[in-house]
Amino acid sequence: MKTHAEWKALSESLTFRSQAWINGQFVDAESGETFECINPTNEQKLADVSSCDQADADIAVAHAREVYRSGVWSEMAPAQRKRVLLKLADLMEAHKDEFAVLDTLDMGKSISEMVGIDIPDSIDCFRWTAECIDKVYGEIAPTGNDTLALISHEPVGVVAAITPWNYPLMMAAWKIAPALAAGNSVILKPSEKSPLSVLRLAELAKEAGIPDGVFNVLPGFGHTVGKALALHNDVNVLAFTGSSRVAGMLMGYAGESNMKRIWLEAGGKSPNLIFDDCDDVKKAAAGAAAAIFSNQGEVCIACSRVYVQKSIKEEFIAALAEEASRYQPGDPLDPATKMGPVVDGTQLATVQRYIQSAEDEGGNILLGGQPEYVDGQGFFVKPTIVTEAHNGMTFVKEEIFGPVLAVCEFETEEEAIELANDSQYGLGAAIWTANLSRAHRVSRKIHSGMVWVNTWGEGDMTVPFGGVKASGNGRDKSLHALEKYSELKQVMIRL
Ligand code: NAD
Repeated sequence: MKTHAEWKALSESLTFRSQAWINGQFVDAESGETFECINPTNEQKLADVSSCDQADADIAVAHAREVYRSGVWSEMAPAQRKRVLLKLADLMEAHKDEFAVLDTLDMGKSISEMVGIDIPDSIDCFRWTAECIDKVYGEIAPTGNDTLALISHEPVGVVAAITPWNYPLMMAAWKIAPALAAGNSVILKPSEKSPLSVLRLAELAKEAGIPDGVFNVLPGFGHTVGKALALHNDVNVLAFTGSSRVAGMLMGYAGESNMKRIWLEAGGKSPNLIFDDCDDVKKAAAGAAAAIFSNQGEVCIACSRVYVQKSIKEEFIAALAEEASRYQPGDPLDPATKMGPVVDGTQLATVQRYIQSAEDEGGNILLGGQPEYVDGQGFFVKPTIVTEAHNGMTFVKEEIFGPVLAVCEFETEEEAIELANDSQYGLGAAIWTANLSRAHRVSRKIHSGMVWVNTWGEGDMTVPFGGVKASGNGRDKSLHALEKYSELKQVMIRL
């Protein structure tokens, strides 16, 4: 691992790609408009980035469609597509430090998380998916003897992927890798808050051998270029990760236009159930702190609601406060920093508003609660724990997307399940217990796409990632992700 000084030196030596990437080259937005990309650590401008709109969406979709029709990628043998995507993964690996710095500068994530999670997981996503694509077989249906029915997978066509800012490279990788592997053309619309790393990725994609027009990146504001893509009649699939509010709007756009297939990975308010029969209260507290303070709480699966069994409440809260104090905000380029700034001033104001509402509604601010400045600047906020919380409070119901933890109590297993499920969201959940039967029983009853037992957030390319209820309908990662970007076709032959 590089030192703080070395990461800083690397960050100062970088040049940023700031134009849209269409048909294999960097171009200005048709309008010539740009927006400012700001470093949340020091509030300084990093770049003026092309601000795309409807005109750019039309151009990118036309190129994506043309190259799709040509078959140069869509009809390429899967083994050959695999080789190209493996080359892209190798190029990402060769530039891994640059990617780590780009996202850290752009959205404030600590460099140690970039190096330990985002970068290896993004590369692994390309490698694993590439390796899968020439091992996915079709089927022969068990029809009668005088017919032969073939079931095969085909690419869908043009995929638009709209991604958030909290894991800029990784969220993009989870969508681009399977969509490209399945033979589609892809247009990526990154968040306006963190577009830099995927613009660099586009260049490497070309170097790896992805034909021009197959992969395009359109930076810009969601309600201009994102909406244009979502309403476009020549986009076949819309894959989205972001807030539930925007996810709902996208469903409307799909219905208003061509009924494009739409996959939504949306918000969360994940519960964390701490039972008094857990193995080790300190371990559970460390897990609970990581589950809310990693990436400044800007994590869709953040367990922002802790429910602790009454008999161990005091012991648990004391251990939790000690663990939380390890997450003091600092310069995210310092490898010792566990928590960087939140993404921008708007997000900081949102977090503060929720902390204020927690206090106003009777919560006890045990830790944090204040904004913080590092070297007199930046959008930093202290890790915040609010005790005496309950499900009736606004900050317990709504997604904050910041380092704010509500601690509530329960007495029985049934009550814990009911409280956990009392939410519009259903993304993740964690359970801490040494009782195997309870672990299975509670996991089955929790309404969410993912449950972690005696751990939190652990993932692997082999398992699907996604939620239920207002947390969405799609699954990233695993073989199931390929289903999002493939059509099933049957061909019936009378013999
Ligand atoms: P957001 O919904 O504000 O924006 C997400 C993307 O949608 C951005 O690229 C944005 O520009 C675009 N967008 C905004 N309005 C649009 C519109 N009208 N039409 C088309 N596109 C539009 O979300 P965010 O603030 O970037 O990200 C945070 C949210 O993402 C949180 O709710 C978090 O839980 C969620 N998230 C979910 C997952 C998951 O896998 N379920 C993963 C990461 C983040």
